[in-house]
Amino acid sequence: MRLLAGLLVAACLATPAAAQGLTASAAAVRDRALADRTAWEVVESLTSEVGARPVGSPAMTRAKDWAVAKLAELGFENVHVEPFTTKAWLRGEERAEVTGPWPHGLAILGLGGSAPTPKGGLSAEIVVFRSYQAMLDQPPGALKGKIAVVTQAMPRTQDASSYGAVNAQRTQGPTEAAKRGAVGYLVRSLSTDDTRLPHTGAGGYPGIAAAALSTADAELLERLAARGKPVTVRLKMSSTVIPQAPAWNVTGEIRGAERPDEVIVVGGHLDSWDPGTGAIDDGAGVAITTAAAKLAAQGGRPKRTIRVAMWGSEEQGGSSEAFAKAHAGEIDRTVVVGESDLGSGRIWRAALPAGAVNHPAMRAFAAAVTPLGVMIPAEPAHHAGSDLQGTVAAGAPFVQFAQDASRYFDLHHSADDTLDKIDPAELAQAVAVWASFLYVTANSDVDFRGLKPPSP
Ligand code: ZN
Ligand code: ZN
Repeated sequence: MRLLAGLLVAACLATPAAAQGLTASAAAVRDRALADRTAWEVVESLTSEVGARPVGSPAMTRAKDWAVAKLAELGFENVHVEPFTTKAWLRGEERAEVTGPWPHGLAILGLGGSAPTPKGGLSAEIVVFRSYQAMLDQPPGALKGKIAVVTQAMPRTQDASSYGAVNAQRTQGPTEAAKRGAVGYLVRSLSTDDTRLPHTGAGGYPGIAAAALSTADAELLERLAARGKPVTVRLKMSSTVIPQAPAWNVTGEIRGAERPDEVIVVGGHLDSWDPGTGAIDDGAGVAITTAAAKLAAQGGRPKRTIRVAMWGSEEQGGSSEAFAKAHAGEIDRTVVVGESDLGSGRIWRAALPAGAVNHPAMRAFAAAVTPLGVMIPAEPAHHAGSDLQGTVAAGAPFVQFAQDASRYFDLHHSADDTLDKIDPAELAQAVAVWASFLYVTANSDVDFRGLKPPSP
């Protein structure tokens, strides 16, 4: 035992004092974050004082004002609004029912970009496909005059990979159905829950009415179709499209004391879909990164600047391009970027830029977060978040911190995306991971561009 202790002391002494100091400070930041309520208070404030905030809605304007006030209240500097415009779709009246052979009401939510039906609605026979591929296998014209229905289920996964595997049935399905002559499109919600709530999301601008079905109703349509007799559905949907809706990315900074021009960018998206209050998507991400930045600087101003971004149009697109354009001149000085957009659950995997795992600063980060159940994979991060696509394409290094997504798609884009689903302890764990990372990165000279992966 004494020998082991002696070896440990020797190992510690062998590391540079600076790295040791960084490791101890990162652990202190982590512990402060675990006990801190800022993230909870931020998401509570956003969901209570603004609520659902689809781009193009009056609520989104209030969300922008909320963001400016909140960042200022928390002590951020250089708080400002970066305006842009984007195409926005706003939901109107929606109704769907089976009219034959037996009447049933259907729980639906229109997909973003759906066309309205004719004023009196439309009625058509459905064609059910149990896989998205089965619909894609249909030749042009095969669905003429029909409502195409895709009922492929989304499995539950921790790493959200099932969403990536099946989301084309929502994002591309409406357009593919229209190409084959369909007059309407219904898709089983990308949901892992068994409630009867439908889950919305962007569905392109297919030119036909397109909606998500609750999982229960998707299964009902499968059973009706299996009886071999024609099944007819009546759809009535309205919506408004604003071709150039006003939108805003809101940013605030903690300016670096030594190298303020070197900037670390983290954030979440401020906009949300309309059925819930956008608590987990992405009020949580906004709250986690804002709180993490504040906590990373609590012991004193960092050496580099930490910038928090609240992106203003993720769900319907536009904020990534606007942000990359507004900050094009700073790419060379952008140290690293990261987005939190996978809910409020605990982080289990923190992927770093290529070659970074052995840098002393990242070892200090690993030492701080390993006790929180976080693994640092050898493989580099491969996706930074949709609001950072433009910035990453321009050359910014990026991290990818994966939250446990096991429950995320029970709630995502549905009326169940509300504050009560957030576990404050899990939220605090995610804050602790981001805060530890921001602390070591902002207080070291790690250059993620200069790192090479170790040779095999
Ligand atoms: Zn999101
Ligand atoms: Zn979303």
